Amino acid sequence: MTDAHVHPDCLVRVFPKAEAERRALNIACAASAWSAAECDRNEALASAAALDGAPPVFCCCAIHPQLPLALKTESAPFPFSPPFSIGAELEALERRAAEGRLAAIGETGFDLYDAAYRETGAEQEKLFAAQLEIAASYGLPLVLHVRRALHKIFACTKQLKKIPAVVFHSWPGTSDDGFSLLRRGVNAFFSFGTALLLNHQHALRSCALFPAERLLAETDAPYQSPRFREYSSYRDCKAVLSAMADLRKAGGQNANGGTEPETIVDRNFYRIFTGG
Ligand SMILES: [Zn+2]
Repeated sequence: MTDAHVHPDCLVRVFPKAEAERRALNIACAASAWSAAECDRNEALASAAALDGAPPVFCCCAIHPQLPLALKTESAPFPFSPPFSIGAELEALERRAAEGRLAAIGETGFDLYDAAYRETGAEQEKLFAAQLEIAASYGLPLVLHVRRALHKIFACTKQLKKIPAVVFHSWPGTSDDGFSLLRRGVNAFFSFGTALLLNHQHALRSCALFPAERLLAETDAPYQSPRFREYSSYRDCKAVLSAMADLRKAGGQNANGGTEPETIVDRNFYRIFTGG
């Protein structure tokens, strides 16, 4: 199995046996980091996995769109806690990209969830533009976090068309939005997680209708907990995939050569994160 969006360094803080679980379930993952320090720890995890012949960890790093607001509030949670210099982080990110150490720039994007977030809109714009440029210069995929901000993404269509793959983590739009991005020439991939288990209607419909070669599965662990649990983890991959399979079957979409979603999702994952 593959997990297209997870935060191993945050997950291990609430679930110390997370890496053992990942290995036991044989799940390759794209590990998101919100800072250079966090990405260093994910790189160590990736090296250990490679040494042990465990399923691979692909390292992604970016400045999260929630960071400007988090830095303004006294109670910024890990991993946003100060000291944190945005300038230094951007430099480190570019250096890492130049050294070929990243599988993707992510997660970045826009979060305009409420008035407080919207107040940091201008800073988010600047951060996103800088990271879009790094992704374009080094030919890296982008992993996007987009909350109430798809219009911002549509406004960047021209630049996004130059990015080898644009992964929407926890796809936040309607199926029409997704098809519209594809029609505009964005090489978009739509990742679905535990929202499928929580009956989010737009996610269900999008997941049923999008072409199979555009789908990914994720846990966003530990941040998207299923009902009655405090956090998500690798073990939720299976439930997400089986929800995906049910949706595709119900929509008559499992005709892709009879291939199960799991196989196609894995193929999409490796194509994106290994640049294949
Ligand atoms: Zn995330």
